[in-house]
Amino acid sequence: MYEIIKRLDPQIYEVIIGEIKRQEETLEMIASENYPSLAVLLTMATPLNNKYAEGYPNRRYYGGCEFVDQAEILAQERAKILFDIKYVNVQPHSGSQANMAVYFSLLEVGDTILSMELSHGGHLSHGAKVSFSGKFYNVIYYGVNPNSETIDFDLVYKLAREYKPKLIIAGYSSYPRIIDWAKFREIADEVNAYFMADIAHIAGLIVGNVHPSPKDYAHVITTTTHKTLRGPRGGMILTNNQEISQKIDKNVFPGIQGGPFMHVIASKAVAFKEAMKAEFKEYAMQIVKNSKALAESLMEEGLRLVSGGTDNHLVLVDLRNLGITGKEAEKLLEEVGITVNKNTIPFDPQKPTVTSGIRIGTPILTTRGMKEEELRLVGKIIAKVIKNQDDRTKSWAKGLVKELTNQFPFYRVLL
Ligand SMILES: *Cc1c(COP(=O)(O)O)cnc(C)c1O
Repeated sequence: MYEIIKRLDPQIYEVIIGEIKRQEETLEMIASENYPSLAVLLTMATPLNNKYAEGYPNRRYYGGCEFVDQAEILAQERAKILFDIKYVNVQPHSGSQANMAVYFSLLEVGDTILSMELSHGGHLSHGAKVSFSGKFYNVIYYGVNPNSETIDFDLVYKLAREYKPKLIIAGYSSYPRIIDWAKFREIADEVNAYFMADIAHIAGLIVGNVHPSPKDYAHVITTTTHKTLRGPRGGMILTNNQEISQKIDKNVFPGIQGGPFMHVIASKAVAFKEAMKAEFKEYAMQIVKNSKALAESLMEEGLRLVSGGTDNHLVLVDLRNLGITGKEAEKLLEEVGITVNKNTIPFDPQKPTVTSGIRIGTPILTTRGMKEEELRLVGKIIAKVIKNQDDRTKSWAKGLVKELTNQFPFYRVLL
């Protein structure tokens, strides 16, 4: 498959093959990742990459846009149908850039944003000090209730009334529960704020009707296309408000980006077409079933899950009762071929580089075709490895990981 690359650059060829094998031979359970179809991947490896197309379909700054215009229009039209929405911008290079374009459209530098604390599940681009979002804006954080470990709406109300933010953000990176969009809109209306829903993680679940859509509540929706949605790496902005959509188009280009990635936009169109199929709804449903099966199995083994379970594609494990940090657990699991990430838990006593938790997601194993039975087994393997940490358990785990990955191949045709 990659002979041409091998001849020109054997070093990068080895990197590509090594990474394909790694993805094929391990259980990838990072909740933000997914394996898109070969159609989606191959669309990116085309000469559409070569085309400069600054501007928007039929109003570009360059000639020769006949075909890439069609690609972008297809991506736009499919996204509108998929999310049942009026206006869309498919050009953001990433989720963070989608968020940046929204802030530049709705806020002035120094305005106040109310968003979820990073350590409670929020995202860097929602106002972290190390991100542009925390440098340009005044950010106030809400979090989860320490008992229920679900969104503390009393706190959201209180902070909104006290600080009168111009923008309220919901939508997270490590929150295992359903988000009540209507409540956020109610609060935003009361203080005259905009409400942005960032569905980067759960876009695929929304398309599959296993998580409610924010389309009737959010002034604007941002997302990535590469997480549960199973598309190419990229971002997208959706809204039903014409005035906001016009501002957003101007702020994506020329505001913060130059030429759009036309190969990626074409690939987004392919991914949206796949997501329109009935099978995708089945897929999204299975992600959640698998996540619940994983949760049950981990809890049976005595692991504590933040909020006591999951409604979506991920679980967040609190490791404090096992005397092991997130960093250590991540490393142990990597040794046996299971990839997860260390993750802060709400009110985490550890530093973000150590953490007391791990985040585990089911999108990729579901893409590979695994069902509840396999996820229950995976839960058992994860729990035993973390609890026992001995060589016997590790070699038992490695054997089972090998069996599972052999039984559910995905990118083998590329090797
Ligand atoms: C992943 C994620 C993003 C950012 O996506 P990038 O493409 O990595 O920039 C934004 N918001 C949330 C909630 C995310 O989980």
